[in-house]
Amino acid sequence: MSEPFVVAGGDAAGLSAASKCKREDPDREVIVYEKGDWISYAHCGMPYYVKGEVDSIGDLLSLSPAEVRDRGIDLHRNHEVLSVDPDSQTVRVTTGEDTFEQSYGDLLVATGARALTAPIEGTELDDVFTMHHMHSAAALRAFLTPPEEADDSIFDAGYVDLDEVSPYFEREPPETVAIVGGGYVGVEMAEAFRGWDLETHLYQRSGQPAPPFGAAVGEAITDTLREAGVELHLDTVVESLEGTEGVEQVLAEDGTLDVDCVLVGIGIRPNTELVADTGVEFGESGAIAIDDYGRTAVDNVYAAGDCAEKVHTVTGDPDWVPLGLTANRAGRAIGQTVGGEPEPIGEIAGTAVIKAFELECGRTGIIDHDRARKAGFDPVSETITAGSRSGYYPGNEATTVTLTADRKSGRLLGGTINGEDRAAVRINSLAGALHEGTTVGEFERYDLAYAPPFSPVWDPLLVAAKVLNGTVEQ
Ligand SMILES: Cc1cc2nc3c(=O)[nH]c(=O)nc-3n(C[C@H](O)[C@H](O)[C@H](O)COP(=O)(O)OP(=O)(O)OC[C@H]3O[C@@H](n4cnc5c(N)ncnc54)[C@H](O)[C@@H]3O)c2cc1C
Repeated sequence: MSEPFVVAGGDAAGLSAASKCKREDPDREVIVYEKGDWISYAHCGMPYYVKGEVDSIGDLLSLSPAEVRDRGIDLHRNHEVLSVDPDSQTVRVTTGEDTFEQSYGDLLVATGARALTAPIEGTELDDVFTMHHMHSAAALRAFLTPPEEADDSIFDAGYVDLDEVSPYFEREPPETVAIVGGGYVGVEMAEAFRGWDLETHLYQRSGQPAPPFGAAVGEAITDTLREAGVELHLDTVVESLEGTEGVEQVLAEDGTLDVDCVLVGIGIRPNTELVADTGVEFGESGAIAIDDYGRTAVDNVYAAGDCAEKVHTVTGDPDWVPLGLTANRAGRAIGQTVGGEPEPIGEIAGTAVIKAFELECGRTGIIDHDRARKAGFDPVSETITAGSRSGYYPGNEATTVTLTADRKSGRLLGGTINGEDRAAVRINSLAGALHEGTTVGEFERYDLAYAPPFSPVWDPLLVAAKVLNGTVEQ
């Protein structure tokens, strides 16, 4: 009997790997250690739970511990993997009270990432939240809920520590909230706070929200947030948060703001300390370097999800784009490799979508010209605006597309899209083209669907390809 497959981390990457390995090799012992209470939860749904669009925190859970165990997986919650000894192929695990060693045949590090708060001072004050943990989401939802509407049922089926969270139910909801950071978490949380009618301020150190989505999308998000009543502080660095027990003020370059609550969403860092001294290698991003099968530089140690890099399909170089699908997919592939025939984890295109109130935005590939040049391309971009449906059909909305290609080869490098009529999912056909190394000329001849309720004859992506191809051919 082979040594067990041990997994550190019980969410997207970890449980996908454990489940797939068990399906491939039902006789293999599979052990999952999760340091917290929560397993198999949807981070991505937290802003919508805080907003109240998702009723209960239990709705964000995919698998219960019992369902995981029914799959034959030996699951241990509140067990933190402290260290790895590659020589003896053991991990050291603690429950907080006891510490023990567990041997492994294969080990998967699926420890995710954590929210950054440095270098902002004062983030330890009460009523300062990050949105990277279910407990924060639960506490924030309780804080926003007026006392007369307070009801524990919003925590149904969760593992919420009611002692910690319930006091928020007894307090008057905040009136003014500041969001520090205008990435996708900040933008989604702005919608959540405005949903509770709070005076909402969003601070962003650069000149636009959601920088990875490029200038055209940034402008559209800026307009949308302002129209929805969000007070934007662009090009503004927050220096510190001040207060005695709870946060009372935001000190920023543009002055001081009195607040009742702060949400910090200034980025994340991969959780890699576990393998810091093991011979595992790290990429420039600080995330764990892996090969096409998720293998680290240490024998029998794999890494997947937000703690690991992956190869970018456009540049062919390692990159760190911590997102949900690729975490699940890498975990599943590693489970397959460990339990049966090896399967590559696949490449990434950095495809992402974001909703800002009614505005939908998508991005994929390399859209930043400096980055494209560093990768050896000669980038050229065009931006167009076209209808989302036939002009005569109700619901037609302006849809803006930016496409970027390499002038020399014509190869598509990336693109963005925004609009209010199912714009975001349109990015997927472009993502597919990037995976195939398609040129803009080839993309212009793609057979995309047309019927008046869904698209004009020329899909906005095809219009953009036609214009960009003209520029590339000049
Ligand atoms: C607010 C928010 C919204 C998001 N929205 C989207 C979205 O719309 N689309 C999208 O694609 N992605 C989104 N993401 C990102 C997505 O949630 C992550 O990419 C995904 O959860 C990564 O999965 P993972 O398994 O690598 O890590 P995680 O989900 O972070 O899981 C890692 C687990 O490891 C545990 N752990 C850590 N250290 C140890 C240890 N030493 N021992 C044992 N256990 C340990 C942690 O407690 C955690 O449960 C969002 C993230 C956030 C925070």
